[in-house]
Amino acid sequence: MLLLPKNKAVQLNWWFCISLIYLALQFFFKLMLDIASLKELLASPKKIVITTHHKPDGDAMGSALGLYNYLIQKGHHVKVITPTDYPEVFSWMPGNGYVLVYTDDIKQADAIINNAEIIFCTDFNNLSRINEMGEVVRQTGAIKIMIDHHLEPEDFDDYRVWNINACASAQLVYEFVVNIMHEKDLLSKDVATCLYTGIMTDSGSFRLPLTTATVHRIVADLIDAGAENSKIHQLVYDNSSEMRLRFLGHCLSNKLEVLPEYRTALITVTREELEQFDIVTGDTEGVVNFALSIAGIKLAAFIVERPDKVKLSLRSRDEFPANEICKKYFNGGGHRNAAGGASDDTLENVIQQFKTILPEYKKLLIQ
Ligand code: 5GP
Ligand code: MN
Repeated sequence: MLLLPKNKAVQLNWWFCISLIYLALQFFFKLMLDIASLKELLASPKKIVITTHHKPDGDAMGSALGLYNYLIQKGHHVKVITPTDYPEVFSWMPGNGYVLVYTDDIKQADAIINNAEIIFCTDFNNLSRINEMGEVVRQTGAIKIMIDHHLEPEDFDDYRVWNINACASAQLVYEFVVNIMHEKDLLSKDVATCLYTGIMTDSGSFRLPLTTATVHRIVADLIDAGAENSKIHQLVYDNSSEMRLRFLGHCLSNKLEVLPEYRTALITVTREELEQFDIVTGDTEGVVNFALSIAGIKLAAFIVERPDKVKLSLRSRDEFPANEICKKYFNGGGHRNAAGGASDDTLENVIQQFKTILPEYKKLLIQ
């Protein structure tokens, strides 16, 4: 009589463990090799482009300019190229004067991209997020390094510093400089100022769930390195134009719709209203958070009629997957609790479509 099953089970377990250890070792050695080659790559001056997603926010600009201020200290020739313009509230950031907006001079930008040896892609992981620049970046022979914290990265990069549990890409730039490059001494005041801005804005001023103890330790390091936390907060958040504040008042008084049966609140804005309040890039940032701040609300939407398309910004609480709605219905994506998308349909139809989607998610919304 054979008692094979038991022995076999033990044997299988051993093989399973050995395979697991083998895979872990392989992964570890590949990581070590990658880190060593990355360090070697950046050991001598290179022509570098840093880019970030279209309509860059605080984390996009903070990551890109933080990296810029780090790399120039190492003697690299660095150009930050943004696919579009970005909010005026970030124009005080160190290095801002050297940023080239792609659409301002496409010919020059293409030449710089095509001439680059290395391209850093910060705070995005899909080339569609940098508009028409995407194909230019894709076809260059430059080494591409992605530093990002969004879900489902596209496979266009050569190196990747990627962690969806990071509260901001700026946190990953810090980890790149300190833990991968081991150059904490290059966390200058300028680097620290930019990275602090990125972490502050993407963590909702240190209150969103991914703001861990580690994030607070990193932020403490950045303050030690010279980031003036109170001043940065003021420069970003207490810098509104009068019209922006009046626009916010208009949104909250006249445009907020609450759907208690779905624990959802939405604010919708027409193109005429954007013109009426002289709304410029960045002015609509954060409006959606007011809708989410109502007690009991689990999903908030800000739907705005831009000149070329209707843009949606969704925010959610807890486990509710705002990114799933954006991905499934609005050609977008993002994080579970903060996501966005767009539509070529009319504002009216998009609002209607959004409302008709809600019953599908009712169970999740009211639980
Ligand atoms: P916001 O609502 O501030 O525009 O974007 C919130 C989050 O969703 C950000 O993390 C942003 O990267 C992501 N996001 C916004 N719009 C899009 C989009 O059209 N596509 C994808 N994939 N992500 C988006
Ligand atoms: Mn980010």
